[in-house]
Amino acid sequence: MTDHPSYFAVGIGAGPSNLSLAALFETATTKRIALFDRQPGPAWHSDLLYSGVRMQTGWLKDLVSLVDPRHKLTFHNYLVTTGRLYALLNAQFDAIPRIEYQRYLTWAAEQINDIYYSVNIDKISLTDDGFVVYSGDRVMAQAEHLVLGVGTQPFLPEEFSGMPADKVFIADDLRKRLPAMTDRDAPVAVVGAGQTGVECVFRLLGAGFTNIQWFGRKQWFQSIDDSPIANDMYRPSHVDFLQGLTRSTRKQLIADHKLTGDALTPGALRALYQANYDGMLELGRYPVTLLPYRDVTGIAEDGDGLVLRCTAPDRREEHPARYVVVAAGRRSVPMPFDDDLRERLDLDDDNEMIVESDYAVSFKGMNGHRIYALNHSRYSHGLTNAGLTQLPVRAARVINSMTGEEVFRIADELTSVRW
Ligand SMILES: Cc1cc2nc3c(=O)[nH]c(=O)nc-3n(C[C@H](O)[C@H](O)[C@H](O)COP(=O)(O)OP(=O)(O)OC[C@H]3O[C@@H](n4cnc5c(N)ncnc54)[C@H](O)[C@@H]3O)c2cc1C
Repeated sequence: MTDHPSYFAVGIGAGPSNLSLAALFETATTKRIALFDRQPGPAWHSDLLYSGVRMQTGWLKDLVSLVDPRHKLTFHNYLVTTGRLYALLNAQFDAIPRIEYQRYLTWAAEQINDIYYSVNIDKISLTDDGFVVYSGDRVMAQAEHLVLGVGTQPFLPEEFSGMPADKVFIADDLRKRLPAMTDRDAPVAVVGAGQTGVECVFRLLGAGFTNIQWFGRKQWFQSIDDSPIANDMYRPSHVDFLQGLTRSTRKQLIADHKLTGDALTPGALRALYQANYDGMLELGRYPVTLLPYRDVTGIAEDGDGLVLRCTAPDRREEHPARYVVVAAGRRSVPMPFDDDLRERLDLDDDNEMIVESDYAVSFKGMNGHRIYALNHSRYSHGLTNAGLTQLPVRAARVINSMTGEEVFRIADELTSVRW
């Protein structure tokens, strides 16, 4: 236990949350932070990256600009130093390609010290000297403070389990399954009306599939409310407002504003509708059938194919499919705490960690050591917690809290809305 490096802070995960933190931390303090990530190198939802998919967030909302626009890791600096500025401006994107954002993250990660890839942290312990993080039996580092940026992972709901993996699979596997899906007229079901769902439908359409059934639970395929006041909920002042509410009121309000972020990009829906119309002109029928208000309740094998069972308004339906692509959302990645640390955590009524306004996790026996959780406080900080829109602001709050100083001033006073 003596030859491992010691840091002021250790971050688990090197996704956008912790990259933003490390980028700001490195330039604003003389202390050291290390990040560990299980991926072999910088990556951001690589399995869901296709040509043509767009960001849901404006490019000014990069890793640093909202709190430090003069930082060397701004998206603007990325464009200038990689020679892309004029080309990107003149392409007149409403939203930049996701591939470009991933390239930006890679460019930024390469300039941040102490990021260690291919390291899965599977145990975190708290000792008198601070946190100790392990990969297998090996101690990787020790630190005063810990920042959890472990993100989310896709899952296959229970009702789809037990089926052949080459026929029923999650959206993240579509890329690797596509080459074997040779019959382009076979019925393919996409289950899930979120952004990942629409992107899978597009991917299938682009690959030449002519019989795509798109299932969604809601009465219609809902798009994001991108109006100015909806966007005012993605500001520090709104996060502060939420902090002043009781937990139950806050939870209700946050559930109510789901459509400001957790829905389809309007442009993607329009583009799909138009591509489907073009397909109809060519084929004499629509290549994509939209099936809203369907709750898929079960699936069974039927000869070479499959049958999906679902409920619809006042009736039950069965739909044949050769393949089923499941885009049912994502779940938080479990925190790799050891039993002792897990037992020290204070939990709320939903058995979730309590995350304070400065993103600190409440636990017993802190002894000056803090745990921060990023992307794990939807019902205390709102939807901004999960997305990319407030990354640097969130990181700045953590840095201020961790160092006990106002390293970054978080100002958002010029508001026309009084929440
Ligand atoms: C396809 C897709 C597109 C999205 N687009 C947008 C968008 O346009 N705008 C927006 O605001 N939000 C978007 N989101 C929301 C999403 O929350 C953010 O994109 C972002 O990924 C969150 O960053 P993160 O760092 O918290 O988590 P992640 O990006 O998930 O990163 C977590 C990292 O932690 C690592 N890790 C986990 N556990 C361990 C462990 N035990 N040891 C070591 N490493 C570990 C993982 O390998 C991963 O690299 C999108 C989400 C998806 C899935």
